[in-house]
Amino acid sequence: MELTSLSLSEVREELRAKNVSPLEVLQALEERIARVDPAIRGYVARDFESAAAQAKNADVSLPLGGIPIAIKDVINVLGEPCACASKILRGYRSPYDATVVKKLRAAGAIPYGRTNMDEFAMGSSTENSSISPTYNPWDTSRIPGGSSGGSAAVVAADEAFAALGSDTGGSIRQPAALCGCAGLKPSYGRVSRFGLVAFASSLDQIGPFTKTVRDSALMLNAISGLDTQDSTSLDEPVPDYAATLGQDIKGLRLGMPKEYFVGGIDPRVDETVRAAIRHYESLGAEIVEVSLPHTGHAVGVYYIIATAEASANLARFDGVRYGHRAAGAANLLEQYGKTREEGFGAEVKRRIILGTYVLSSGYYDAYYLRAQKVRTLIRRDFTTAFDKVDAIVCPTSPEPAFKIGERSDDPLRMYLADIFTIAANLAGICGISIPCGFAQADGKALPIGLQLLGKPFDEARLLKLAHAYEQSTPWHKQKPVL
Ligand code: GLN
Repeated sequence: MELTSLSLSEVREELRAKNVSPLEVLQALEERIARVDPAIRGYVARDFESAAAQAKNADVSLPLGGIPIAIKDVINVLGEPCACASKILRGYRSPYDATVVKKLRAAGAIPYGRTNMDEFAMGSSTENSSISPTYNPWDTSRIPGGSSGGSAAVVAADEAFAALGSDTGGSIRQPAALCGCAGLKPSYGRVSRFGLVAFASSLDQIGPFTKTVRDSALMLNAISGLDTQDSTSLDEPVPDYAATLGQDIKGLRLGMPKEYFVGGIDPRVDETVRAAIRHYESLGAEIVEVSLPHTGHAVGVYYIIATAEASANLARFDGVRYGHRAAGAANLLEQYGKTREEGFGAEVKRRIILGTYVLSSGYYDAYYLRAQKVRTLIRRDFTTAFDKVDAIVCPTSPEPAFKIGERSDDPLRMYLADIFTIAANLAGICGISIPCGFAQADGKALPIGLQLLGKPFDEARLLKLAHAYEQSTPWHKQKPVL
């Protein structure tokens, strides 16, 4: 068996038993990437030289000792490029480690590579990368999802044991679903965003992509907790997330939101997710219908709030401080304009324009303020539902991976890819996507994701539920043929 096909937990056992050294693990990964990444293009940068130096001194007794971890190109790693897959940040190198990276290092892990993404995390397909699209390992004519498509694809293709991504409206869960791995979006405030390039600050969270739910638990333990450098991180105790895995889920109540099962979704996804829910019933969970009445407004509300916050957050990329600077401008204002014109891609420009518009004085009340009010209603929908159930179960994405280029000219259709993931960010709750089956298309198997949503800071129960499903089904063991 190839070393790189092991899960994070498995490679950790091998390291601890001294059957392999951290350097051998890293070299196996380097070879695997050289072999398969030309077809996947999940990485935008790698630094095996500095990783090897770290591997030589790795302490395998630490929680993630000697384990290489891939990092999305939106999270700062000291001395490494951090371009958010944008032309505007080409050449920029991080002067510091993000808190999550510091924490990973403290747990013994080794960052070695940067994964591809939609520019500034805006997108659902990784086609908005200024470098290259990433290709879905299950069918390289299809998208891997987005915006963390690189992180999802490299984990699915055994080019990484685990990767970090960011999720503002589904960017961890949706690509995890489309690539067939586990993707966890922690509750708002669970994980520090210090060192994450901000997209929409009231929605962004960092979380892991892994091959198994147990690995998600280990990763979450490593990155969680209060950080004085991020005032939105909360001082909630961090439980041992792996400790409750394997416990009985009998009697736990799972809510099926009736608004999520009403047509408009791919019938193969609908059937597969319903079968997964029946499987939960056979494990002893109780299935309860719940209602999230404001679901229909979630996408609209998100695209007002997220673009408004993005327009403010991206104002700092002006050619003065970071990355690209346009040549030949006559004055400062022209330099700002030319730099941004040259540096940002079409989708990022669309979001900045939309966000500036909804914040402008004549429209603020009609759009932004109103969206904030509806956001409160969406959050209340979940609070009410969680009075009745322990978690919510639903599809992650309304359809399996689509073809590269198929949606590029239709932003609205692209935005609908987020229909089941966005509400969790608006409500600040936690969510995970795990594999629950496959759809067949053109002779290829395309993964389908099952989404579990949990109360704020209830990740332990979410992981326990996800683990119970995973361990009693074969889906997570399937691998794409590369
Ligand atoms: N697809 C959504 C968007 O384009 C979500 C992106 C994300 O979660 N970063 O905004």
